[in-house]
Amino acid sequence: MIAMQVDGAFIAALKDAVPTGDVWTSTEQRSAYGHDETEDLNHPPEVVVRPRNTAEVSAVVRLCAAHHIPITPIGGRTGLSGGALAVHGGVGLALDRMDRILDIDERNLQVTVEPGVITQVLQDAVAAKGLYYAPDPSSKGSCTIGGNLAENAGGPRAVKYGVTRDFVLNLEVVLPNGEVIWTGANTLKNATGYDLTRLMVGSEGTLGIITRAVLKLVPLPKHTQLMLVPFPDAVKACEAVSAVFRAGITPSAMEFMERDAIGWTMRFTDGLPTQLSTGPAAYLLIEVDGDHLEVLMQECETILGVVEAHGAGEVLFASFEFREGCAMAIAQECAGEREGPQRLQGRGYRGPPVRTTQTVARGEGDRCPAWILVGVLWARG
Ligand SMILES: Cc1cc2nc3c(=O)[nH]c(=O)nc-3n(C[C@H](O)[C@H](O)[C@H](O)COP(=O)(O)OP(=O)(O)OC[C@H]3O[C@@H](n4cnc5c(N)ncnc54)[C@H](O)[C@@H]3O)c2cc1C
Repeated sequence: MIAMQVDGAFIAALKDAVPTGDVWTSTEQRSAYGHDETEDLNHPPEVVVRPRNTAEVSAVVRLCAAHHIPITPIGGRTGLSGGALAVHGGVGLALDRMDRILDIDERNLQVTVEPGVITQVLQDAVAAKGLYYAPDPSSKGSCTIGGNLAENAGGPRAVKYGVTRDFVLNLEVVLPNGEVIWTGANTLKNATGYDLTRLMVGSEGTLGIITRAVLKLVPLPKHTQLMLVPFPDAVKACEAVSAVFRAGITPSAMEFMERDAIGWTMRFTDGLPTQLSTGPAAYLLIEVDGDHLEVLMQECETILGVVEAHGAGEVLFASFEFREGCAMAIAQECAGEREGPQRLQGRGYRGPPVRTTQTVARGEGDRCPAWILVGVLWARG
């Protein structure tokens, strides 16, 4: 099959196909859509098209199919596997103008969105109604639901809630011939026939273009408690992970970071000291959530017992708002203002007193404490 060229006639036909969208051909515009977060790669499409609705997406796909022109769907361009790069040229189909939250169905705990909705925007919108969209990729401030679906994105909360796939009920998809289908049903139980929804999730835009998604919601947990746990030994930290689960606790998020990763991050993060102090070999970030504070605090007590049995140092507790507070704290810390964990806690902590609300082991001299760095990585995510 010989691909035809993206020439003037094709561009004119594209403009007809997307009367309310954009068709961009300038070098700057194409270059901006030619990269994601995969390092050092730039593959600008020959033309960028930004449709506004499913009918326009379908018209573009039909046109490209007729002319054998490759199409690459493009979301927030935060991907780390190059999926949004137009390595074969052709059309870069950017979904960023299709960014509406169409319906939050509180009664049935589901939400219908277009693919260009930023993940954080969706989380905030449903949280305002007491609901929770749990998939939580660390890039959630700039990635899109379409990209999350196409990559089956996960995040720290996958440990309790699962990944994007576990929150999808139904997808509207434009197939490679331009036909529009729905893959499933807006119900929790939909056991009959092929599972096209799961086939589409994680297919990186190779099977079709997702133009709408019906996503599952759960009630927003009333309370969250975050613990930062230092370990002198990375193996012990890993063993503690399994031990926490065996103790009957399912944290809502859990992240492991060891010393080398922290050191490398410090070297490549502007404004941070490049030397890592002696201190913990690894950290675990453990988050628990739930509706009853007493239960949550009991869970924290259980976790404390487990991590202490695995040699953990002093544990820092913070409320979830701590994420935001950390970014400022590290700036102050590195500027020599020496804001300590206690003050940080004062700003972020909202819960009742906890048994071990002590400082975490700190760095030495003018070096940046590793726990703050971990917090910043968490915050920047
Ligand atoms: C700092 C940082 C942190 C990250 N953290 C995580 C993490 O915690 N967990 C994780 O899983 N990933 C993570 N990622 C990777 C990335 O953010 C995710 O893969 C995200 O899902 C990509 O979404 P996007 O909107 O940026 O998609 P893009 O990068 O634009 O595209 C990704 C893929 O989706 C396809 N696509 C986009 N929209 C559609 C659509 N509507 N229909 C069909 N295909 C489509 C594209 O063709 C491409 O193949 C991180 C990336 C960064 C930079």
